[in-house]
Amino acid sequence: MDYKFIPSVCSYCGTGCGVLFQVMDGKLMGTMPLKTHPVNEGKLCIKGWNLHEHVNSGNRLKHPLVRMNGHFRPATWEKAIEFASNRLKEIIGKYGPDSVGVLVSAKITNEENYLAQKFARACIGTNNVDHCARL
Ligand code: SF4
Repeated sequence: MDYKFIPSVCSYCGTGCGVLFQVMDGKLMGTMPLKTHPVNEGKLCIKGWNLHEHVNSGNRLKHPLVRMNGHFRPATWEKAIEFASNRLKEIIGKYGPDSVGVLVSAKITNEENYLAQKFARACIGTNNVDHCARL
């Protein structure tokens, strides 16, 4: 049996608490707080304590889904992006750039959030940008 602790950072919000993942035979089994981390000093909120659970969940989405005729259908990333791009162009062409908005997330990096707002403002032409922390 191969059992180890792997230090990492919680991905659930921008606080950036330090965690130790418990890994047994290559499978993520649990999450512990990292006592030496300067941000959380051995503490985690309830989301952090359960950080590992979604990784092995049977409900986890493993590929894009595109809604067609009221039903979600599995699609490749290329098809899903093409579908979203075409629909965005269609809606923006018909109703203008302020008819759409971009919602970003605390679960992505500051750099990714920056790129998302840049995409909204420079590519789409809207200031309709918001963040899940405000929702
Ligand atoms: S443990 Fe809680 S407070 Fe810390 S980063 Fe994760 S979600 Fe945020």
